[in-house]
Amino acid sequence: MNFDSELKKGNLIVSECINCKKITWPPSEFCNQCLKRTSWRKCSNQGKIIEFSKQNDTCFGIIEFEKSFRIMGTIVEGVPDINKTVEVLDCGISDNDYYLKMKVVE
Ligand SMILES: [Zn+2]
Repeated sequence: MNFDSELKKGNLIVSECINCKKITWPPSEFCNQCLKRTSWRKCSNQGKIIEFSKQNDTCFGIIEFEKSFRIMGTIVEGVPDINKTVEVLDCGISDNDYYLKMKVVE
């Protein structure tokens, strides 16, 4: 199991340290705090908008998940604002790049 292969299938997963329970980001088999092994688990499908910007008709956002890491994605539904919650609708890899599509949870 690894981050990229799961993301390809549309699953957002995180690596969490089995010792100190910290989420390692970028995903890794070893904790970057205590160097112990990590285990994979499903990530929460909701995050918080840290920043967003509009380019033409596309809205990009930097989303914080589980209060520990940030991923950039596109917000395809709803009116985005700082601190609003978004839910992941779809994620995967296209052209060797991650993509994440989200909607604002009202
Ligand atoms: Zn650790």
